[in-house]
Amino acid sequence: MNAARDVVVIGGGVIGCSVAYYCARAGLGVTLIDQPKRGRATSASAGGLWPLGESVGLGCGVIFHKALAGRGQLPEGVHGPGQLPKAFLDFALQSNAMFPRLRDELLQTAGIDIELERTSLLFTMYDDGDVAFAKPLLEHCPCGQNRIDWLTPDELAKAEPAVTREVRGALRFNGDDQVNPYRLADAFRAAAQRLGATIITHTAVTGIEMRAGRVVAAQAGADRYPCAMVVNAAGAWAVNVGRMIGIEVPVRPVRGQILGTETLPKVLSACLSTSNCYLAQKQHGEIIIGSTTEEVGFDVGTTPEAMRSLAAGAVRAVPSLANVHLKRVWSGLRPGSPDELPILGPVDEIAGYFNACGHFRTGIVTSPMTGLMISELAAGQSTSFPLEPFLFSRFAGADPQSAIVHAHGIGDAALAEMRFTVPEMQCEGCANKIGQALQAISGVTGVDAKVELKQVWVRYESSKLQEQTLKDALHRAGFSAIETP
Ligand SMILES: Cc1cc2nc3c(=O)[nH]c(=O)nc-3n(C[C@H](O)[C@H](O)[C@H](O)COP(=O)(O)OP(=O)(O)OC[C@H]3O[C@@H](n4cnc5c(N)ncnc54)[C@H](O)[C@@H]3O)c2cc1C
Repeated sequence: MNAARDVVVIGGGVIGCSVAYYCARAGLGVTLIDQPKRGRATSASAGGLWPLGESVGLGCGVIFHKALAGRGQLPEGVHGPGQLPKAFLDFALQSNAMFPRLRDELLQTAGIDIELERTSLLFTMYDDGDVAFAKPLLEHCPCGQNRIDWLTPDELAKAEPAVTREVRGALRFNGDDQVNPYRLADAFRAAAQRLGATIITHTAVTGIEMRAGRVVAAQAGADRYPCAMVVNAAGAWAVNVGRMIGIEVPVRPVRGQILGTETLPKVLSACLSTSNCYLAQKQHGEIIIGSTTEEVGFDVGTTPEAMRSLAAGAVRAVPSLANVHLKRVWSGLRPGSPDELPILGPVDEIAGYFNACGHFRTGIVTSPMTGLMISELAAGQSTSFPLEPFLFSRFAGADPQSAIVHAHGIGDAALAEMRFTVPEMQCEGCANKIGQALQAISGVTGVDAKVELKQVWVRYESSKLQEQTLKDALHRAGFSAIETP
């Protein structure tokens, strides 16, 4: 073994297992160490591969948005959940495109079928609010109109006879499919092992040893694992691993509750996303009904309210489910980041440490590209997708005290950017609020926003959007402390 190429992966969820697989495939020496904690996200996931749906706010995004609206916590004129930046969409699409080949590789190497199914995702529209949210998606789809189809109620009834007729239609997201998430993680792990990785289970990493600014070993209680690199893939617990080398990785647990029905004959061909719940029938017949978005720390309990509301949402979407038994109810902790994007790659001045965390609600679909990119970094190669939008350094330099807007051209006359801070708001709410504010500006395209701790950074096409219009929308969304220098 060549110690300079030895990697310790901390965490054995889908991300750690993918990193271990791609590193082993690249010929690196790999040790994966996992302490299974209650609430680990991979064991809770629905297995949706919904790069486009999730990027435009479907899945749990639209459910959370509806819940906020029901509690009167949304600004006026907001019709739907916020969207993730184009860089994330491209990353997720590229990762999603890896699945067909990956399925074959994992079947061949590990003998495990990840149950990749070409389902597509249907957003069922119940009312004017849903239609108002869906129309701009069809007209300004960030990856071309042929990716999305508008289904009339008759077309929907023909395609999905079990779905309620009380609908205004549906949007079909072609290419947004599904896998079995548990099998995916198992297959990554088994394939990594076949390729020479060592898997150590039921063991917590308790420290990272550094010498002259370099990682030299991972510590697990009394055991020491010499290595040149460590990968922080500890999911919602990534902050603890970061602290082992003195950095604050801004990952927090975001609980999702989820239900599973008894095994049923084929009810749904597509996965469904509605404003009350999403539904995905798995290959073995169970229908997964998800999911809440809750900031309750590391509490992995389930609540009768969430069960009632998700079950009612499922029966509204598919009335025949009223006569079906629920088999299980559970929850998982999504590894949430301030801007809802993963945190990937190296950290300045800490040689041999890589982040692979903060995947929030899209860690299944983005696991292949994450594993591949981390393996490329560990092997000293350039990455298959640009790292910049996902680097830990994007959180550096935020000044939580400042309340100043900077608006200026950035070379290209068609583009402008604004950066401002909102001291009275918690950063957790920023990503949603900024997305909602931007969506309130109807018909605008080419707007990109990201959140860095308590700063919000907006880039927009100045030919399509007036600076004042953007500021007004942000004011309406509650960003009251804006000043132009
Ligand atoms: C209800 C729900 C539904 C979801 N649905 C989807 C979906 O449809 N599609 C999608 O793409 N994503 C979905 N997600 C998100 C996805 O599940 C997560 O983004 C992904 O599983 C994160 O994987 P992970 O490996 O980073 O974290 P985890 O799966 O939590 O794994 C982290 C592992 O690290 C271990 N660990 C922590 N600390 C240590 C330590 N010190 N030493 C050793 N081990 C440690 C933990 O115990 C755990 O085993 C969903 C999430 C939830 C909760």
